[in-house]
Amino acid sequence: MSEGYSIFHETMADMTYLEVEEAARRGAVVLWALGVIEEHGPHLPLATDVYVPSATLREARTILAERGIESVIAPPFYWGINAATAAFAGSFIVRPETMIELIKDVFRSLNKDGFKTIFCLSGHGDAAHNRVLFDGVKEGSNFGPIDAYMLVSPSFAERLEIDPADPYLALTSPPPSTPQAYVDVHAGDGETSMIWAKYPDVVRTEIVPTLASTNYVLSDLLEWRMGGQHAVRKTPAGYLGDPASANPQRGHEIIHTEAETIAAAVAAKLGR
Ligand SMILES: [Zn+2]
Repeated sequence: MSEGYSIFHETMADMTYLEVEEAARRGAVVLWALGVIEEHGPHLPLATDVYVPSATLREARTILAERGIESVIAPPFYWGINAATAAFAGSFIVRPETMIELIKDVFRSLNKDGFKTIFCLSGHGDAAHNRVLFDGVKEGSNFGPIDAYMLVSPSFAERLEIDPADPYLALTSPPPSTPQAYVDVHAGDGETSMIWAKYPDVVRTEIVPTLASTNYVLSDLLEWRMGGQHAVRKTPAGYLGDPASANPQRGHEIIHTEAETIAAAVAAKLGR
């Protein structure tokens, strides 16, 4: 088995109750990855959006530890809203109220164990999903009660129409902007590189080189986001981007850079 293959790897789920109790007593903060199970082309697993933030938080946890900030990783959340990919097999869709209630219950459980602060990282780009997640963070913080924050970049907050100064956000620095001719947002170069880097066993590597780039621009992306048959027509194979350009070395670099900005956002929020 590859290192890190399990979504429970390095999470609370692999700890004992005594270890959790002691971490809470020492004031550890909680990191939580929230992804979805949805189609990711003919070459990546449905859980791609769960695997990527899980791997990112493992690295962020190491960076935080080097700065003297202890953290534990909650077992990942993997149910959500998949507007764009809803018409494909394997995309699970839950109701917003289900998501919110589950988030609230997780926060209350963490509060029961003595944790005071939680940072939530979304692994999924769907705007509706992330707005519900944000509502869950807000409602859950009162319900826990617990100090809860959603980790987002300023540009993503803007897309969600959330004020970047909102107290429930922990802002990460914007991703380095490499000018791209075409959009690469779903099971393309970026996601394929990251999964290949961290979970090589689940990439259908023999298929990757055969996948032609979609060569789409912003207007195509907006149509794809309408979901249903729009998405099937735009991306009959289920990916939007250029998976054949993927390489695992770049995947490691993308995740490491993201983990550093997350650790910086957590440290800034804690005033450390
Ligand atoms: Zn994805």
